[in-house]
Amino acid sequence: MKAIVIGSGIGGLSAAIGLRNAGVDVTIYEQAAAIREVGAGISLWPNASKALGKLGLADALNRISIPQIDGGIHDAQGRIISGASGEFVVESFGAPVIIAHRAELLAMLHETADGIPVHLATRLKNYEQDADGITAVFENGDRATADVLIGADGIKSAVRAQMQPTSKPRYAGYTAWRGIAPFDYPANETYWGESWGRGARFGLVPMSNGRVYWFAVQNAPEHMPKPAEGHKDYLLKHFGGWHHPIADLLNASDEAAILHNAIYDIDPLTNWVDGRAALLGDSAHAMTPNLGQGACQAIEDAVALGNAVTASGDITAALAGYQAKRITRANSIVSQSRRIGEVGQWANPLACWLRDNLFRALPASVRNKQVAAVVGYEV
Ligand SMILES: Cc1cc2nc3c(=O)[nH]c(=O)nc-3n(C[C@H](O)[C@H](O)[C@H](O)COP(=O)(O)OP(=O)(O)OC[C@H]3O[C@@H](n4cnc5c(N)ncnc54)[C@H](O)[C@@H]3O)c2cc1C
Repeated sequence: MKAIVIGSGIGGLSAAIGLRNAGVDVTIYEQAAAIREVGAGISLWPNASKALGKLGLADALNRISIPQIDGGIHDAQGRIISGASGEFVVESFGAPVIIAHRAELLAMLHETADGIPVHLATRLKNYEQDADGITAVFENGDRATADVLIGADGIKSAVRAQMQPTSKPRYAGYTAWRGIAPFDYPANETYWGESWGRGARFGLVPMSNGRVYWFAVQNAPEHMPKPAEGHKDYLLKHFGGWHHPIADLLNASDEAAILHNAIYDIDPLTNWVDGRAALLGDSAHAMTPNLGQGACQAIEDAVALGNAVTASGDITAALAGYQAKRITRANSIVSQSRRIGEVGQWANPLACWLRDNLFRALPASVRNKQVAAVVGYEV
C-alpha cells in the first residue's frame, strides 16, 4: 500500500511513522521550504506520551523529560485554585506530563521517521481520485499518486477545504503570547500550571536545561496589532503585578523571540473521510490550547490510523475504522477545550470570584474523573 501524507508537522510526521510501522510505503509533502517549529514549549500528557511510545519514541522522550513536578490552576496572586501532584499523575495515568521544546519534539519525530521521503516546498492544491487510486495535485504542477492520502495540513487544511468546504477556523475571542526564558527554578519552588485573572491567564512550565516555557492569554479583538511598546513591555504592564516569578520570566525573555497568535478552533466535524482521503490532527479537529491536547490528539490519531491499516488491508474499511475510533473522542476534546477557555477568560469580577471558589470547592474525585477522561486514555 502507498500513502501520501500532506504536512510535516507533529501530526503528519506521527502519521507517517504510524503508517510506515504498519508496512505502508509513505511519502510526505510539505509546503514549507525548510522544516522548522516555533520556539515554544508543548505539553505532552500521558495519553500522548503513551501513544508516542507505541510509535517507537519512548527512549527519545525520556531524554527530554524533566523530573515530575506538581501543577495546577492558581489565581493571579498565586493562591491554589485546583492542583495535582506529579506523583499522582504518574500513579493514576501511567506516565508523566512531558514538557518538550517544540523543535526538539519535531527533531525526535524526524529522527524516528528516518527513511521516509519528505518533499519540501510542495504545496497541495487539491486531490483527485477514482477506483484505482488518489492523486495529489500540487501548486508547482507536480502530481503524486497513491492508495490513500492523509491531510495533516493543519487548521487551514487544503484537504479539509475540499472535503468540508463550509468548515472554517473560528476565532475564540482571545490572543496568546508564548516565550521561553532562561530561568533556574529553585528546587523548593517546583510548580507548573496556569494562573487565572480577569479576562487573562498566565501559564509557566519548567523545561529541561534551565528553561521555563511561559504563555499569556488575554481577551482581544481578532486582529490585535503588535502593541506599540513591544510585546514584553505590554505583557509586563498587564501581568507584571501577578505572582512570582512572572515579572522575572518576562524580563528574562528575548523580545524578538516572543510569539503572538490569535487563538482559533473549528466546529467539530461529522466526517473526516472522503473515499481514499482522510483528515488527521488540526485539519480534523483544531482545538483551542486550553487543555494542551491539540498535538496529543494528533499523535493519538496517528497510532489509531496505523492500527486501522494493520487491521484491514482494505483502504475504505481502514479509514472507516480510523474515523470510528477517533472522531467522537477528538470532537469531545474540541468542545471541552472551548468551554474551559470561555470560563478561564471570564472578565466580570463577581463571575471570576464565583468561578475560582467553585473550582476550589470541587471534590478531588470529580476533578480527577474529568482529567482521567482526557489524559487517562490509551489509544
Ligand atoms: C498557543 C498554542 C499552544 C499550544 N499548546 C499545546 C500543548 O501544550 N499541547 C498540545 O498537545 N497542543 C498544543 N497546541 C496545539 C498544537 O500546536 C497543534 O494541535 C499541533 O501542532 C497540530 O499539529 P498538525 O501537524 O496537525 O498541524 P500543524 O502543526 O499546523 O502542521 C501542518 C503542516 O502542514 C503544512 N501544510 C499546510 N498546508 C499545506 C499544503 N496545502 N500543502 C502542504 N503542506 C501544507 C504546514 O506547513 C505544516 O507544516 C497549541 C497550540 C497553540 C496555538
